[in-house]
Amino acid sequence: MTFRQPYLRALPAVDRLLQEETIKEASQKLPRKLILEAAQNVIENYRNLILQANSTEELEKINVNPRDLAEEATYWAEYRYQPNLKKVINATGTVLHTNLGRAPLAEEATEAMAQVADSYCNLELSLEGGERGSRLQHLEDIICELTGAEAAMVVNNNAAAVFLVLNTLASGGEVIVSRGQLVEIGGSFRVPDVMSASGAHLVEVGTTNKCYPSDYQNALNENTCLYLKVHTSNYQIVGFTQEVNREKLVSLGQEAGIPVMEDLGSGVLLDLTSYGLPPEPTVQECIEAGVDIVTFSGDKLLGGPQAGVIVGKKELIEKVRKNQVARALRIEKLTIAALEATLRLYLEPEKALEKVPVLRMLTRSEDDLKKQAQRLQRRLRKELPAGEVRVEKGFSTVGGGAFPLAELPSYILSFSSLYISVENFARKLRLEEPPLVARIQHDSLLLDVRTIKAEEEKKVAEVMRNALHKML
Ligand SMILES: *Cc1c(COP(=O)(O)O)cnc(C)c1O
Repeated sequence: MTFRQPYLRALPAVDRLLQEETIKEASQKLPRKLILEAAQNVIENYRNLILQANSTEELEKINVNPRDLAEEATYWAEYRYQPNLKKVINATGTVLHTNLGRAPLAEEATEAMAQVADSYCNLELSLEGGERGSRLQHLEDIICELTGAEAAMVVNNNAAAVFLVLNTLASGGEVIVSRGQLVEIGGSFRVPDVMSASGAHLVEVGTTNKCYPSDYQNALNENTCLYLKVHTSNYQIVGFTQEVNREKLVSLGQEAGIPVMEDLGSGVLLDLTSYGLPPEPTVQECIEAGVDIVTFSGDKLLGGPQAGVIVGKKELIEKVRKNQVARALRIEKLTIAALEATLRLYLEPEKALEKVPVLRMLTRSEDDLKKQAQRLQRRLRKELPAGEVRVEKGFSTVGGGAFPLAELPSYILSFSSLYISVENFARKLRLEEPPLVARIQHDSLLLDVRTIKAEEEKKVAEVMRNALHKML
């Protein structure tokens, strides 16, 4: 023990570290509490190192110079002070990545949010008459214009939209759904669970792969409140299948006097088949087909903020609006601003395709992707000598439960190195500033350029260089 004493005595005290220039500088921008904690922690770590050392040689190697300790403490405090939620570079190629926040907003939408964020706004004030207005008024006209619906309302997300509609129209009654449509969306949105929470009783009809009009007709009774169709947005049943299509379900509903609801999930407003995407029902198509009430997400293919949009017949929407629970699911001014600005872009479809990032990324040409991949390859080859960077053809997925089977041809940068483990490298990349999220396949790290912005390319190279440097 005694041979450690001089080393323990040499440890600087907290006050001594606080006099160091680096810490004084850091104190200008970091909370004092955090800096104190950092200084205490660093000293404590060194105390433990000294106590664990078994020989004078080991002790000799422990450097307790106040300046170095102060630097360590500053680094730790700065690291701790970073926001938890931050920008990341998405190199996965998955356009609607739920873990990465789904749709990045259009510039028009972020500008609209900024306009009202630090200011008062006419959220619930009619500027014309000066009386109280509805926050949903800012959105209803444009949603109706774009979808052809009679009425519209917006809530917190699509799960809330489905819940609210079921709770309003079917609480205490029965809702008939085809067994093949009992979906679970990532993050555990399960149709049967949402149904029971809403107070509606689920009646499953048909089998997993087959459902006929007679299945709906046979299940009908005096408790039936709703026919529900759920878009099987993250899987497809293929092979020996039979489905009651939208038009048929609408006519069954009309015959029986039962409203038909469709949970569309993604909710696309433009037909993207000419860009190589498989057909996905548009909201307009559902309304046109006579579906009484349709729900969809704001932050999936629409490319807007998190929201759940409910469109349909005026009489039904009125009822949903009057439900007391709606208050608990209402959206705030920032969402309204972002959604309104996003929807405005759709008034001119070419403009939406160009300005809504989700649509822009989904419709990029192969030539454009190839050029970006080659440009990034040149940059990476310069920055990363200790590895091989190849450009390969590959596929991106859409994500967010849209186009489940679609594989979009893309160009992928594949990085491999004999000197490192790719898993470890991928982890290091996630811990860089900004974090870079990539895919791993076999012994290669894959960067799909579809979701990388041109202005991020320089950062991608920097982050990879820094992460690699720490590993070699
Ligand atoms: C994504 C999805 C939901 C949930 O929507 P959120 O906006 O994530 O709440 C519900 N139903 C279907 C069919 C979906 O695809």
